[in-house]
Amino acid sequence: MSLKGKTAVVTGSTSGIGLAIARALAEQGANVVINGFGDAAAIEAERAKIEADFGVKAAYDGADMTDGDAIAAMIAKAEKAFGSVDILVNNAGIQHVSPIDEFPVEKWNQILAINLSSAFHGMRAAIPGMKARKWGRIISTASAHSLVASPFKSAYVAAKHGIAGLTKTAALEVATHGVTVNCISPGYVWTPLVEKQIPDTMAARGLTKEQVISDVLLEAQPTKQFVTVDQVASLAVYLCSDAASQITGANLSIDGGWTAE
Ligand code: NAD
Repeated sequence: MSLKGKTAVVTGSTSGIGLAIARALAEQGANVVINGFGDAAAIEAERAKIEADFGVKAAYDGADMTDGDAIAAMIAKAEKAFGSVDILVNNAGIQHVSPIDEFPVEKWNQILAINLSSAFHGMRAAIPGMKARKWGRIISTASAHSLVASPFKSAYVAAKHGIAGLTKTAALEVATHGVTVNCISPGYVWTPLVEKQIPDTMAARGLTKEQVISDVLLEAQPTKQFVTVDQVASLAVYLCSDAASQITGANLSIDGGWTAE
């Protein structure tokens, strides 16, 4: 499959799953816009490495996913620079672990903005161009938590269930325009996001780090293995292929059997 001539915007792609997806799409020939926070020199090194490794154009846009106007501007800028935005991957996400009655209100608002509303803003800005060109792929990184819940993750679970609903709605709206809209629901993938929530889970549940990994994280995953970022990226690439043109409105699990239980 070749994505040569296509342009992909991948939010939250300075690290983890997003970076793997951006690199995998670039490997197929797509120009990519990476986005996210982090050390400026490290981000520039990743951007330049994508160009060097895959011979495509790669740009960086620092749009904050809590800011709808910045998201719309990112899409407009990418369309102007590359001629189109054909693939939108809504991947940016954060986590906060706390009981509901102690959940900081600002964290709730931030998680809903980054993990859910940013996808709405991105779709809203990118869909007109995709419809006009009669081709588009919108993929959101949801989570097993778009299908089932865990305690102490109220905002995250609510936002991810929201992504699943937004995916279905958008898919129906653009179904006759050559645009597919799907979400991918990984179980636990070993990334900085997972690593960072270990101390909070240790505190919330009174467990050691080893116990959090075995009894909380991999407890949910029947295969007892973490999903890899490259496995998630491969599924995103597949969803961009012509073979996947009839997959739309779907929520695809890649969770080692977690949600089968
Ligand atoms: P990560 O922390 O490695 O990456 C998150 C990315 O989002 C980073 O690039 C970060 O800079 C960016 N980001 C955070 N806040 C932002 C903001 N306000 N504006 C712009 N960018 C912002 O995490 P990850 O594990 O790779 O997670 C990526 C996605 O996958 C998230 O939506 C997450 O919920 C989802 N997910 C992760 C797992 C897992 O186990 N790691 C499982 C299921 C779903």
